[in-house]
Amino acid sequence: MRLIILFLSLLSFLQAQATININSNNSNIKDFEVSYFVDTSNKLEFKDIKSMNFIKGKNKDSLGVKVTNAWIKIKISNTSKEKQTLFLHQSLAYKYTSLEYFEVDKNESLIRKQIISPNAILEKNQLNGADAIFKFSLDSNEFKTIYVRQKTPAYFFYDFSIFSQKESTKYLIYEKVDAVLISGLLLALALYNFLIFISSRYKEYLYYSLYLTSSALWIFYVYGSMAHYFEIYGAIPLRFNFGIMIAPIFLSLFIQTIFKTEIYYIKEHKLLNSVMLVAFINFIYGLIDFTSALKIMPLALNYALIIFMWISISIYLKNDKLIKIFLFAHTFYLIFSIYALFYYIGWVDVNYVSSHGTSIGLILEAFLLSYLVSYKFKIMEQEKEEDRIKQIELKLLASTDPMTKLYNRRYFSELSEKILSLSKREKKDLSIIILDIDKFKKVNDTYGHQFGDKVLITLSNKLIEYQRKSDIICRYGGEEFVILLPNSSIENATIVAQNVRKLIESSRLILPSNKEFKFTISLGVAQIDIDKEYNIESALKRADKALYRAKTNGRNRVCFEKRGNNRH
Ligand code: GH3
Ligand code: MG
Ligand code: MG
Repeated sequence: MRLIILFLSLLSFLQAQATININSNNSNIKDFEVSYFVDTSNKLEFKDIKSMNFIKGKNKDSLGVKVTNAWIKIKISNTSKEKQTLFLHQSLAYKYTSLEYFEVDKNESLIRKQIISPNAILEKNQLNGADAIFKFSLDSNEFKTIYVRQKTPAYFFYDFSIFSQKESTKYLIYEKVDAVLISGLLLALALYNFLIFISSRYKEYLYYSLYLTSSALWIFYVYGSMAHYFEIYGAIPLRFNFGIMIAPIFLSLFIQTIFKTEIYYIKEHKLLNSVMLVAFINFIYGLIDFTSALKIMPLALNYALIIFMWISISIYLKNDKLIKIFLFAHTFYLIFSIYALFYYIGWVDVNYVSSHGTSIGLILEAFLLSYLVSYKFKIMEQEKEEDRIKQIELKLLASTDPMTKLYNRRYFSELSEKILSLSKREKKDLSIIILDIDKFKKVNDTYGHQFGDKVLITLSNKLIEYQRKSDIICRYGGEEFVILLPNSSIENATIVAQNVRKLIESSRLILPSNKEFKFTISLGVAQIDIDKEYNIESALKRADKALYRAKTNGRNRVCFEKRGNNRH
């Protein structure tokens, strides 16, 4: 590394730094050459610096994480016929603790010195939004050199432009719009997800919202919006780096919740815990010594990024549908933030994507994660619906007879109790029919059990066909059926019973021999005394008694049994 620097400085020594030529037409100069010198000793003063070898570079660059004190040299000359008043902007000034300007004439003698200390709150008016502006003038054909010494707690970036007064004002107005848009978008998304959390109580929405908030606040700071709109500079807003420091905690919690890692992916769960621990230690260290914590922050963040990648691949290999979206989202974030990281440490040139890499990655990731939570919601809804259907099926299975699809005896007793209490409350009649196939044993014996089953199914279907909506039909025993008729007197129920008897008498089945088969049923009817009876047992007994009479009186008939001795 040292050799490269030595080589570069030798190269720059051989090629003289280009001078910026100002004429009447170029009042907005954003692309020019500067040179810089890194003072690792931290002790050099202006008088010492002039003889040092400066390295040539662009007017926007990053000298990396470790550089905290460097000098930038700008050579400028006025080739126009008029005097020019110019504004030298450093639009990343809000990150610095001090900027010192030394204006030097062509004989290298100092004309003027100006110090801007964004860190000193009382002097904050020295900055214009996020920018430090050094105003100077050049007479026609005059040449000057401007040295700028910048000191920063960590990360050395610079971004110089030279403007006329009019261009300077314009730049200050439009400069930070994109950063505000990005952080605004993230904050809106965070709020939306927080509201979903409030109503749904699903924790993944809360963690996602916190992740977005911490990232948005960091973006708001790091691209200078904080300084630009609120004029807060130096050490205080530097603490917004806490946002990106703790963001991995929220993202880890989000992954743990949405993928239920504690249950399904135990190894990955523990790794996420380690990410949280590292971020937490970095945060606590930051509370004690913020600038030192800032220097180890890239390590903690990179650890988080690697673990997130590792975990998403590992869960992907275990075939989880959802993780694909996360993997996709995280890859986006990783690609853009690595590109940005290369710019921060000075490996790639400055351009919009490299200088905004992290936020572009964050935005893409945020949208994909939004899709992830909504997709998860869809899956959960589907699972709930499947559960619901399963439960209904189970209930149905427990309450019905599989062959005839009628209610079974157990469920019938449960239901009849409810219907009885409803009839009591509404003071409505309630009657009961019990019916039994005539000479069924013989049917089984003659045509086989299977055909007997067919007869049972035919009878059940006829009963279902004939029933009113409110009637409850139950297979009470082998070939015995019970019908509960709400809102029916014994007279009504007897008519129903007669109709059912006739319906069965007239129905025909086809025997295996292709001959017609017919069968009959006998029925007993009784009414439940809703004023005096508290269950249907005694009414059932009365109906059974009537059925017995129907059988003994020759079958294929209806008998009813009133309370007392009134019978037919
Ligand atoms: P009755 O007219 O007096 O009722 O004469 P029955 O032969 O029908 O006499 P009973 O009611 O006692 O007959 C019950 C018969 O019903 C006995 C049994 O073989 C038959 N059975 C009961 N459950 C089933 C079933 O699920 N399938 C078939 N095929 N037969 C059944
Ligand atoms: Mg029977
Ligand atoms: Mg029978």
